[in-house]
Amino acid sequence: MNRIPVLDGHNDTLLNLHLPDRGEGRSFFERSDLGHIDLARAREGGFGGGFFACYSPNPEGDGWNEESALAITANGYEVSGAPPLDPEYAQDFAAGLMKDLYHLEKASDGALRVVRTADELEECLREDVMAAILHFEGAENLGSEPGALKIYHQAGLRSLGIVWSRPNAYAEGVPFKFPSSPDTGPGLTDAGRELVRECNHLGILVDLSHINEKGFWEVAEISRAPLVATHSNAHALCPASRNLTDGQLDAIRDSDGMVGVNFAVGFLREDGGESADTPLETVVRHTDYLVGRVGIDRVGFGSDFDGAKIPEGIKDVAGLPRLLTALRDAGYDDASLHKLAHENWVRVLRATWRG
Ligand SMILES: [Zn+2]
Repeated sequence: MNRIPVLDGHNDTLLNLHLPDRGEGRSFFERSDLGHIDLARAREGGFGGGFFACYSPNPEGDGWNEESALAITANGYEVSGAPPLDPEYAQDFAAGLMKDLYHLEKASDGALRVVRTADELEECLREDVMAAILHFEGAENLGSEPGALKIYHQAGLRSLGIVWSRPNAYAEGVPFKFPSSPDTGPGLTDAGRELVRECNHLGILVDLSHINEKGFWEVAEISRAPLVATHSNAHALCPASRNLTDGQLDAIRDSDGMVGVNFAVGFLREDGGESADTPLETVVRHTDYLVGRVGIDRVGFGSDFDGAKIPEGIKDVAGLPRLLTALRDAGYDDASLHKLAHENWVRVLRATWRG
């Protein structure tokens, strides 16, 4: 069986490599057991590339971090809300990650390419080159200068999550909470509505993972592009605030958009638990559910590699073939596997980028 290249909706590899306490000094170009993605393991797993997130963490100085903000509740957990970032700090930090990505491209000697069009993307998939889609996770990363989006587009930005799980000048993200509805706060601000229109105008994908439900519905009303959640799962199977309700999934289907299945165990398990001892079959279950709800043409993967704890049956990017085998065993034929693995992403990106 030929390996099917997997194009993936979300990784946090840039941050993992950037912060010594996360990546422990590993190199993208040397095979490691640390983290989830490096070039050697990516080749082994048939990783065709995907969305490389530029995410700005809360700085030490503001006293907030995911671990200390976590409270265990009777039947789940709640992470108290992350405070907004200073846009100048966020812009600086994200620019550092963006620079890292272009350094990787240069140092890769043709093995990794930052893609700006669907044609370039397809060329990479054909030629076994890792395709990197430059993604900002949180629009505070644009800084506070109006007009910056256009400059970032010229610099290669092709996907923008309006929010991470915190508020910013544009919208509010969902705090991590289980069990919880994603309806956790107010919708878009005027600047948020303008940002969506500007993304449509430039052909930048608007990512709806991490936004709260009111924000989601406002984007659905304003946006002329297919609705996309790059790394979210089915709320019906795992009622975490980060997952999508049936109503949201229906809107994604009606817009001919798509959802990327997230491998984070906390968004897969019906108990919301954080154990890597989570069967690979939970990924298959969410895939089945999402395909049943939005159709085989509107589901892909959004691994969250290097950003989350994932089932030990996948372990890292080299484990992707085991997931494809599990899906094959569950009844997905070759044509369906190709759609899930990359064809759906290529279709939606071509429609969004308009070229
Ligand atoms: Zn995320």
